[in-house]
Amino acid sequence: MAKPKVASVWLEACAGCHMSFLDIDERIVDLIGKVDFTATPITDFKEIPEVEVGVIEGALGNEEELHIAKELRSKCKILIAWGDCAVFGGINCMRNFMPAEKVLEEGYVHTATTVNPDGVIPCDEVPALLPQAIPVDRAVKVDVYVPGCPPEADVIYYVFSEILEGRIPTVPTDVMRYD
Ligand code: SF4
Repeated sequence: MAKPKVASVWLEACAGCHMSFLDIDERIVDLIGKVDFTATPITDFKEIPEVEVGVIEGALGNEEELHIAKELRSKCKILIAWGDCAVFGGINCMRNFMPAEKVLEEGYVHTATTVNPDGVIPCDEVPALLPQAIPVDRAVKVDVYVPGCPPEADVIYYVFSEILEGRIPTVPTDVMRYD
């Protein structure tokens, strides 16, 4: 029987959730025997194929991230919001207290390490910011929520194990980690 396919994307995020996935250690060998990892930040496939399970790390903060989230949703049967950024918006939402134009000005002009004497803010080269950073389920339907910053490796393994058994897991909220 063909192994179920999994694709994951890393959107407005720090990569910590994918690093936590690698923390499942040797159990990854067992998992690779059971699922086929396709497009992920680790495999670096350029196209998202049709998959059984899609995983989103990160919030949605710009038009490109919104597009990728919608594309993955349209190509997967089960969508997992993975980590606090995807589930709640996370640290990305700190910018929601000011207009997007001010955020760009801060990032491209005023940040101490920026050298931008003309004060030009790129608009064609980078995707347009959404008015606010939002959790994934504000844009697309999410089937499984895996909170935590990052989620514990054991929780990630539990989620995959449950899905492989044909169950949609519910992760208890007391597994969230902020240490
Ligand atoms: Fe990084 Fe935490 Fe967001 Fe995961 S939830 S992407 S670890 S900030």
